[in-house]
Order: sequence, then C-alpha cells, then structure tokens
Amino acid sequence: MAAAPLRVLACGDVEGRLEALFGRVRTIQGKSGRFDMLLCVGNFFGSTSETEWAEYRAGAKKGRRGLYSGASGLQIVYLSGIEYQDEPAPAYSFSAKDVEELKTSLLSTPDFKGVDILLTSPWPRGVGTFANSAGEIDTKKCGSKLVSDLAASLKPRYHFAALEKAYYERLPYRNHTVLQETPQHVSRFIALANVGNTSKKKYLYAFSIVPMSLMDPVELVKQPQDTTENPYRKSRKEAQKTKAPLHAEEEPSCQFFFDLNKHQGKKRPSDGKERGDFQPKQAKKPSKTVGPCWFCLASPEVEKHLVVSIGTHCYLALAKGGLLPDHVLILPIGHYQSVVDLSSEVVEEVTKYKSALKEFFRSKGKRYVLFERNYRSQHLQLQVIPVPLDHCTSEDIKESFIAQAQEQQIELLEIPEHSDITQVAQPGTPYFYVELDTGEKLFHRIRGRFPLHFGREVLASEALLALPQRADWRRCAAERAEEAAQARAFRRDFQPFDFALRA
Ligand SMILES: [Zn+2]
Repeated sequence: MAAAPLRVLACGDVEGRLEALFGRVRTIQGKSGRFDMLLCVGNFFGSTSETEWAEYRAGAKKGRRGLYSGASGLQIVYLSGIEYQDEPAPAYSFSAKDVEELKTSLLSTPDFKGVDILLTSPWPRGVGTFANSAGEIDTKKCGSKLVSDLAASLKPRYHFAALEKAYYERLPYRNHTVLQETPQHVSRFIALANVGNTSKKKYLYAFSIVPMSLMDPVELVKQPQDTTENPYRKSRKEAQKTKAPLHAEEEPSCQFFFDLNKHQGKKRPSDGKERGDFQPKQAKKPSKTVGPCWFCLASPEVEKHLVVSIGTHCYLALAKGGLLPDHVLILPIGHYQSVVDLSSEVVEEVTKYKSALKEFFRSKGKRYVLFERNYRSQHLQLQVIPVPLDHCTSEDIKESFIAQAQEQQIELLEIPEHSDITQVAQPGTPYFYVELDTGEKLFHRIRGRFPLHFGREVLASEALLALPQRADWRRCAAERAEEAAQARAFRRDFQPFDFALRA
C-alpha cells in the first residue's frame, strides 16, 4: 500500500524577509496547490523589525538541535547555527559535542536506517566530491566538517543547507558500498540561496516525500541512474583526526518549521509521485542497427569533419544544416535509440557534456535549449541550440513551445525540474522533450503522428530566434569546406570547456 506523499517546501536564508517569503509561498500555493510544510534553513532573522516576524511566529517552531517528527511521520533532524570549535559553544552555534549527542540519540534507536530530512545552516564540507560542480562554491573549502560527519551518520534522504547565497543540487549519493553492503536509500543534498536575492537564484525548493517508515523497503532503496559515490566516506576518518576549523560566519542562524496546514486550511490530498522513485534500469548494451547509421561513430557514414569533441561514450558534432553555426548534437558513440535506452555510464557522460555546453554557451551570453525526438529516428540525437540570454527568458522559451504545441494539438507538459526523462518515458515508446540549461523540461508522449521538425521550427519562429528561413535543415545545406571551418571554430572555442580533452 502506498502512502500519500507529503508536499514540502524548503527555503534558504530568510534574513528576516518574511513578507517576500510568504508572498512567494502564497503564489506557489495559488499555482500548484497547498503544501504541508515549509522548512527554513540558514540565517533566519537578518535585521528586520519584530512586527513583521511576530505575524508569522504563531505557525513556526524553532530549536537549536533535535528531531522533529510531526503527525506526518516524517523524521526531520535539524542542527541550528554554525560550527564552533571550543566548548561551551555560544548561542547560534554548534560544537562537536552537540553533533555527537545528536548522533547518539538517533543512532541508538533500534534498526536505525536513516532520517527523512536533515536541516543544517552550513553546507557539509566536501559535499561536491564525486559530484556535479557547485559552480562558484568550492565545496572542498566551504562548509562544516561536523555537518559532513553528521550527514554521513544520519543518512538523510534530503539534506538542506544555506548560508552560501547559492543554489546547488547535488546528484544523489549512495549510503552503501556496492556489492559489499545491503543496498540503502540514496541521499540528496540541496543548498538554497537567500530569500528574494536579486540574482534570481533558487531559494525555494518544492518536493513530495513519503516518510521512509511508510515506504515499501524495495521502493526506498531504488537507486537513480545518476547516483554517485558517497562524498563523505573519506572525510569521515579525517574528521576524527583533525580538529574542525571555525567557520568564519558571524550571523546567527536557525532552523524553522512552518506547518502550512495549521493556518491555511485543510490539507489537500496529494497526488504527485515522489520524485526520488526512479525505476531501476539494467545497463544496456548498444543495439545493432539494421542499415547504415549516420551517427554511430564507427560507421563509415558518419560525417567526421563535423565532429567537435569525442568522449568515452559520447561525442559532439555540429548539426548538418544547423539552425545556427553553433547548433550542436550530443550523440552516443555506440548505437542507442533514445535517452531511455542509455546505460548509466553513457548517461553520466551526456550529463557532463550538458554542463560543459551550458558553461560554454553561458560564457558567450547564451543559454542552450536542448530537445530530443524519439520518433522515427534510429540513433539518439540531443539537439542543442543556443539562444542569446538577452533575447528571451526561459519562461518565454517554455511559453513558445507550449503555445506552438497547442496550435498543433500537441500536449507538452512541464515535468518537475529535477526529475528525469526516464521516469516519465517508458522504454520503447516514442516521445519528444525540450530541456533548458536550468533543468526545466517539457515532455510530450507521442501517441499518433508528430511533426518531425517541431523543435527546430519553434526555435526558428519569430517568438524566439526569428530565423524562419532556417527552419528546414534541408534548405540550410552548406559546402563541406564551410562546415569544416565552422567545426574548427567550435572546437577552438569549446576547448577550455571540453572535459574530454583533459581526460
Ligand atoms: Zn547508430
């Protein structure tokens, strides 16, 4: 029996900006329905007046450290403040002793498996090890080693932190050693920016979760494809040897919980499936093609002069008759039909190419729009087309796709930002999807016919790139010499971003 998931919002440093926070929460609830709970991490108070705070005080709970388990059955552990080396730790800070006591109280429960949610102010030191880049934040230097130690012991399914004025969602990591220990659930770390920040960094994170105590044990330990090694396995030993340094942060920081049902009406029955529940997938071998394939790198048909980067499992090639000179394709080297068929190591490299291309295009003041059509195509092609940032917003792009889809009776649905195509598409079924470099995705399950050039046509339309004359690639043929020159130029510019060259 599946329990109904709880809908939770997590929020970064509030810094006293309660009006901004609750305004945003109301908007989100207006759009997507009620949430059950709002969790705040990082610096809560800032320097705002008491009155603004007083209004919301009734629905909030706070404390320095402990376990909060409401009627929902969710186990939420929180540790307030910043790391402090010496005893006694001042208010708004925690010491090694606090962390030790918190661990002991939880780990002594019989059959302790982990907690649902961990809230800390600082990031755990080293969280970026084995993971996707945290952007400007150097995860080796930032954050608290005590928090890493706590996270390693408590195995939270979700761990939220703040204080760095940055948003970072780490790839999930595993809590067991493969083939040596029984599989356990994965952990996800999410750092949130400060409320109302001017650079529009994400500070609210919505997710649904079924308390682990109510979950089917098999469901609970399912491993998403992009799961990485545990970042703390090494640092745990080190933490015992070296004394943790003082975090150079002076602002007081606290955790707060808001029960959104208490003051805002009845709980809405939840319908969303928890996003952590991926279908486990067997790694597949590339399949054999029937005829010659234009995209298998080993195939004599492949146009080698268009290839701009070659990794271990994937490569990049300029699109033939591209919409723009830097319209590029991410392609698996072996023969795979769609993203859904990829084995995990290929997926991993696709992800690396996506982030390299994101950085590359961002350095040129552009964002990429990526799409895949798994319909009447043999070999997976992820089409990546850059759009100038000042030309349109990500909302404009999504709206253009949705509107132009509607005109053709195509239902394009926005799927949760952090979910994976493999969760919504079944192997063997045709689909089309668009993805922005922010991770936002629109998905269409193809049931009947589908216009083959839809993605390109939307991008070429007046609303976006305004290049209607280039909508059809067959009319964009270029001389081989010109193609080769464009590929050379791309290779040269992309070089600093190309991980394949450093391997
Ligand atoms: Zn192929």
